[in-house]
Amino acid sequence: MNRRAIVTTVLGVALALATAPAGAEQLGKIGGALKKVQQFKDVEMTDAEETQLGAEVSQRIRARYGVVQNQAVHKYVALVGTALAQVSSRPGLGWKFVVLDTDAVNAFAAPGGFIHITKGALANLKTESELAGVLGHEIIHVTDKHTIRAIQKGKLVQMGADETLAGNSALMNKLADKAYEIVDSGFGRGDELESDEKGIVLANTVGYAPTGMIGFLDMLLERNKATAAASRNGLFASHPETKERVEKMTKQIASAKLTSTATVAPRYTSTITFKPVAAAEVATVEAGSAGAAGATAKPAQEPKKKGLGGLAGRLRPGGGEQKSAQVTGSGAARGGAGEDGNAVGGSNPALVAVSVSASDVAAFKKAGGLK
Ligand SMILES: [Zn+2]
Repeated sequence: MNRRAIVTTVLGVALALATAPAGAEQLGKIGGALKKVQQFKDVEMTDAEETQLGAEVSQRIRARYGVVQNQAVHKYVALVGTALAQVSSRPGLGWKFVVLDTDAVNAFAAPGGFIHITKGALANLKTESELAGVLGHEIIHVTDKHTIRAIQKGKLVQMGADETLAGNSALMNKLADKAYEIVDSGFGRGDELESDEKGIVLANTVGYAPTGMIGFLDMLLERNKATAAASRNGLFASHPETKERVEKMTKQIASAKLTSTATVAPRYTSTITFKPVAAAEVATVEAGSAGAAGATAKPAQEPKKKGLGGLAGRLRPGGGEQKSAQVTGSGAARGGAGEDGNAVGGSNPALVAVSVSASDVAAFKKAGGLK
């Protein structure tokens, strides 16, 4: 099994299709080329390569938003996240949980187990089960390789047939740029629904009330009403896609009998003391100067996408396929209603190192009445 080349060029196929006369010999060649593309779908990245890619993407996200330099907050988020990751399909990935220094409400999953949640999201959540809902959703984006699949399906990165990732920093940078665009602009509808569905199962398995993610989406709808009234984001006011997600999860909780009940609100509110900032009040940056490092600098004339990014409910039409590089977001503002996507971030991108052992997680679960 070829576990090295994760993406291969399909340009050759397109040229062959465009130029070949309809002779039997040429059709045979085209058939061969198409077969190669079919096989490409089965090619996988190693976990080590994925982690390397995720570290690059995380670096871009942290450069954009900065990191809250608070050990206790990071430890807490890591405990909740690790408890969830342990019951996921990829417990052995080097999971890292990062709290971003911005009042915008958002979360970002990068490949390899790098989960980011904003200070603004934490400020607006009310219970540990809501946090578990959000983290569970993001964890599924990683375990089910949504970013990598989007790059593959969208044919967003081309490389030579014999090219490999190992030691190829130019190729890794190219991949990281594409992955960052996808993570920043949000995933497709199918990926979002899958993350909702599997994420609440993770939360329920650990003992959290599976309604946490619904609580989060309800909070977003509420939070953005004022902004919508100011007509900056009217599209979002009754965002049917967010409502659809809430309905789907509500049905799933009943039909799959997800009956866990722990919300662990007191521990949440005693640990997380950030003050929420209304959507319309979130400080924003001018286009082209987003973040301390200008990591997501956008041309001023580019129309902004409204509505929410992947975390928050902007499902794309088209049944879950990332249709093109354009659809996956070429630098357009992602993120929250109103101006969350353009929110100001902090200036320190350094990771806050915390260690979370298996016994730490066990003690944490016990204290919270979890399973
Ligand atoms: Zn998502």
